[in-house]
Amino acid sequence: MNLLITGGAGFIGSHVVRLFVEVYPHYHVYNLDALTYAGNLQNLADVEGRENYTFLRGDITDASYLEGIFQEHKFDAIIHLAAESHVDRSIAGPMAFVQTNVMGTVNLLEACRRSWAGDYAGKLFYHVSTDEVYGSLGAEGLFTESTPYDPRSPYSASKAASDHFVRAWHHTYGMPVKLSNCSNNYGPNHFPEKLIPLAIHNIKAGKPVPVYGRGENVRDWLYVKDHAQAIDAIFHRGKVGQTYNVGGVNEWRNIDLIELLCDVMDEKLGREKGDSRKLITFVKDRAGHDARYAIDSSKLMEELGWEPSVTFEEGLRLTVDWYLANEGWLEEVTSGHYRDYYREQYEER
Ligand code: NAD
Repeated sequence: MNLLITGGAGFIGSHVVRLFVEVYPHYHVYNLDALTYAGNLQNLADVEGRENYTFLRGDITDASYLEGIFQEHKFDAIIHLAAESHVDRSIAGPMAFVQTNVMGTVNLLEACRRSWAGDYAGKLFYHVSTDEVYGSLGAEGLFTESTPYDPRSPYSASKAASDHFVRAWHHTYGMPVKLSNCSNNYGPNHFPEKLIPLAIHNIKAGKPVPVYGRGENVRDWLYVKDHAQAIDAIFHRGKVGQTYNVGGVNEWRNIDLIELLCDVMDEKLGREKGDSRKLITFVKDRAGHDARYAIDSSKLMEELGWEPSVTFEEGLRLTVDWYLANEGWLEEVTSGHYRDYYREQYEER
């Protein structure tokens, strides 16, 4: 099988690429990535050079480029992860999200439709999406696969649009598609603009740890390697035309999560318990900040037998260990543009 994975140099994509290259040596995995600020080939240094792996640098907003690689490599299936993925950046500059997440997805659907030319035997378009498309929950309830879409940020609106286009290509053209909507991921290779790696980075450096509002927003967290396993299960055993919610059954208020992380960091860095908590600094809340996301993954668990392999405490420790052992990675991704972004986001408010 010639398998195209988009966004494979990013956080989740790199774990998915590694899993497929290692577990399915008879597949040829093509990783298509534009290498934006969020893409980093260092994430796949151990995979580079493997016989069943090829990196393609390209942009999914470029339809004629896609046409060319589809003609050349005759992909059988695609796992689509490439996206602009950070809510705060979508508030500051929404157009890149429309271009990549909406236009880029439609370009890929069209490239598949032309390349497969109505012969869909053995073909699959698997679209990876987010639970943020469902909007915001009150104190009770969970997102299920039939929760109506109610996106609030430019990021979630662009992902919601892309989900609708994928389903439209299934219903209109008969293209075999699968979708999954996942909660917040954490783990190795996470870009430090996101809550957990940003907090690890700042706690280590003794810098203030910014927390939006009063830290009361609730999120469900899933270890990234468990998300990659879920994608594997859905890709191979999920039903065509179906959507699967993926979550960790693991809800945390941001402030409780950060306090737990501070305690783990105190222990790992040999600091006095409570020292790192002093770094917590509340900052002006994000515009339109959704109160609570919580996801019901029972369809995935019952139909495909998937479940998270680690508890949150275990996953968080693995994550902290990885960041402490990979200072070079962090140094590299936090240089240059990232510093300007960080200043605008948290220091000039
Ligand atoms: P990421 O920002 O870490 O990685 C995105 C990758 O896409 C990067 O390597 C980037 O270079 C690439 N990319 C961006 N624009 C591109 C373009 N125009 N052409 C080609 N490549 C491009 O994102 P992530 O956190 O790994 O998320 C991956 C996918 O999973 C996204 O679709 C996201 O919506 C979804 N998702 C993420 C989470 C999460 O918690 N991170 C949760 C649920 C779903």
